[in-house]
Amino acid sequence: MIYDLIIIGSGPAGVSAAVYASRQKLNLLVISKDMGGQIAKKAVDIENYPGFNKIAGPDLIKIFEDQLKSNQVEIVFDEVISVTKEAENFKISTAMDDIYEAKAVIITTGGDPRPLEAEGEKEFIGKGVSYCALCDGPIFRDKTVAVVGGGNSGFETALFLSNYVKKIYILEFGAKVKADEENQKLALGSGKVEIIENAKVLKIEGETLVKSLTYEDRASGEQKKIDVEGVFVEIGYSPATAFVKNLVDFSERDEIITDLETYATKTPGLFAAGDCNKGKYKQIVVAAGEGAKASLAAYDYLLKIKK
Ligand SMILES: Cc1cc2nc3c(=O)[nH]c(=O)nc-3n(C[C@H](O)[C@H](O)[C@H](O)COP(=O)(O)OP(=O)(O)OC[C@H]3O[C@@H](n4cnc5c(N)ncnc54)[C@H](O)[C@@H]3O)c2cc1C
Repeated sequence: MIYDLIIIGSGPAGVSAAVYASRQKLNLLVISKDMGGQIAKKAVDIENYPGFNKIAGPDLIKIFEDQLKSNQVEIVFDEVISVTKEAENFKISTAMDDIYEAKAVIITTGGDPRPLEAEGEKEFIGKGVSYCALCDGPIFRDKTVAVVGGGNSGFETALFLSNYVKKIYILEFGAKVKADEENQKLALGSGKVEIIENAKVLKIEGETLVKSLTYEDRASGEQKKIDVEGVFVEIGYSPATAFVKNLVDFSERDEIITDLETYATKTPGLFAAGDCNKGKYKQIVVAAGEGAKASLAAYDYLLKIKK
């Protein structure tokens, strides 16, 4: 069977795309490794998604799942390993050795923030360790925090956090921070930032919540401890886009490049929405909005090729 549309991924972008596509009565399939995507990793409540003052990740995922069921969306739980286009249609191969065909495809495979791999990091996720200042920053009002990563993301994070926190250490692994001068100037202008260069984070410690971070001063070899109640990890992001090769262009960070109105890639009929694309703001509401727009654009594409 050839589907009208296959959506890969069922995080906020995929679910939103699927809800819109099902209401257009498209012959639709969702293929995803799991249900809900990164929201499942959320250890504290989500406080910035409209309609809910606070909602736990698993509760939002359950609502997403129920909404797909009530719209009779077919889901296959499998991993997509390649997407190709032959003649008019897309071929999608999966880890379970299945092949699916569709006239249009929306990729919504998100990605993962790169972890530090330091002792205590995993243990304190949601208890002081965060990968999303926009999501968790306000919790750290008047506290001292560390931002690990001295690139543009690290400095932008520090600038945002300076609205809330008392003091921010920016820890940079290299001998010099890498952020643009403008970003450095803005963050340092807050008067709350102290830069620590040549710092290799070794461990994050605390009791119930984070209390300190220990790093190796790579210049002297000495171990140093700073008292912090929050650790924001900003050392990169890995988009899940390796399965689609020649059909799209990639950013320097392996994000898929799309048109910003329709989320169309360079290949007609292939769209990419949410955290897997080059969009700057990686948030649930943004991913859901992009999923809806990509779905409407895919519908327009299907009408066009039908004519
Ligand atoms: C710890 C943490 C806390 C966060 N807190 C907040 C918050 O409070 N508020 C907020 O707005 N944002 C928050 N975010 C960011 C938010 O979760 C993401 O922006 C959002 O989930 C992106 O949605 P998405 O649908 O684009 O991708 P994802 O949520 O990453 O979903 C991707 C989907 O694709 C599937 N997939 C991946 N690869 C394949 C493949 N090869 N084959 C099949 N399926 C595949 C995955 O299984 C998943 O279902 C947080 C992120 C993290 C990590």
